[in-house]
Amino acid sequence: MRLPHFDLRQPSTVEEALSLMEEFRGSALALAGGTDLIPLMRYRLEVPSTLVSLQKVDCLKGISLQDGRVFIGAMTPLADLVSSSIISDNFPALLQAARAVGAPPILNLATVGGNICQNSRCLYYNQSRTWRLERPACFKAGGNVCHAVPKGNKCFSVYSGDLAPALVALDAVAAVEKRGRSRSVSIEELFSGNGLHPIALGKEELVTGVAILLPEKSSNSSYMKMRARPSIDYPLVSAAACATRGGNGKIEKIRLVLGAVGPSPVVVGDVGRFFEGKTLDEVDFDALSEIIGKGARMVDNLTFPGSYRKAMLSVIAEKAVRAALRPGAGKEKQ
Ligand SMILES: Cc1cc2nc3c(=O)[nH]c(=O)nc-3n(C[C@H](O)[C@H](O)[C@H](O)COP(=O)(O)OP(=O)(O)OC[C@H]3O[C@@H](n4cnc5c(N)ncnc54)[C@H](O)[C@@H]3O)c2cc1C
Ligand code: SF4
Repeated sequence: MRLPHFDLRQPSTVEEALSLMEEFRGSALALAGGTDLIPLMRYRLEVPSTLVSLQKVDCLKGISLQDGRVFIGAMTPLADLVSSSIISDNFPALLQAARAVGAPPILNLATVGGNICQNSRCLYYNQSRTWRLERPACFKAGGNVCHAVPKGNKCFSVYSGDLAPALVALDAVAAVEKRGRSRSVSIEELFSGNGLHPIALGKEELVTGVAILLPEKSSNSSYMKMRARPSIDYPLVSAAACATRGGNGKIEKIRLVLGAVGPSPVVVGDVGRFFEGKTLDEVDFDALSEIIGKGARMVDNLTFPGSYRKAMLSVIAEKAVRAALRPGAGKEKQ
């Protein structure tokens, strides 16, 4: 499938990139590794007249440790996350999430910023134009119907990025910039909850990096993903957990985040009462699984039925929690 015509700009500094995003506001898109965007352009789901490539903006690449926090540039390839000892020593959930993205050739091209900012997906949307022309355009494609939920009045597309649930569990913050202004946004707030436009960024804004506080010594984290083919596929459901234990072995804090359940990663609220002040053996996982199941509305718009994905969600969530509570788990070297 041919790409539509576009004008390629290749700035070498952040300032230049931000100026271009402002100049072509609304008709330009950022191009990072292109592994999400280029297929969408081939399908004519995105037809930007200008691509602002960030490939030559070298200062956006790299992982550094400063003042108790780790900073990851938006253009850092996922392969670099996987091979970084800063990441494997401190953030097992992020390491496991990066490792689980697609397949090794994708990890070499795909970037942290591109992974976070990828569009949400749906079986009725991520198809060629010829396929889509067989039925009326759905909400996400500019029409007024949803094929996944025929009486639905909104888009149920699924945000399928692997890194974001792990980053939300780790309480990471994104650096977001536009010309003349920068802001810090928690990764959780970077998501709109709207399947039509899942990423809450202005058209002229770029994510320039992600900052994560170094974890407490007694903290651990984990990411689990269910997918059809472990060698390449997007998550059908996923879960990230970050847990802290006290000196007595009892759980002090826990954060549990679900992925591929809707248009944004979902923080499971009120999990503290299941865990805090307890040992792992005392946790009532059946009660937790009920809460998780109740909150999730999963429809038939990925390769496996929504009902099956929903049933697996609590299994994957429990696995993530148990792994995060196993001391040293996931911190093994590559
Ligand atoms: C076969 C296949 C399997 C895949 N499997 C997975 C998977 O298992 N898990 C998964 O998470 N993904 C998967 N992907 C999707 C994709 O490869 C990854 O999400 C990848 O990390 C995207 O990064 P990228 O740098 O290529 O982004 P791009 O494609 O360059 O960009 C993605 C989107 O983000 C925007 N963007 C990029 N950088 C920035 C920035 N700095 N600021 C603001 N906006 C920005 C772009 O405009 C675009 O809209 C798969 C893709 C393929 C082709
Ligand atoms: S969930 Fe419905 S509106 Fe959204 S992309 Fe799928 S078919 Fe379209």
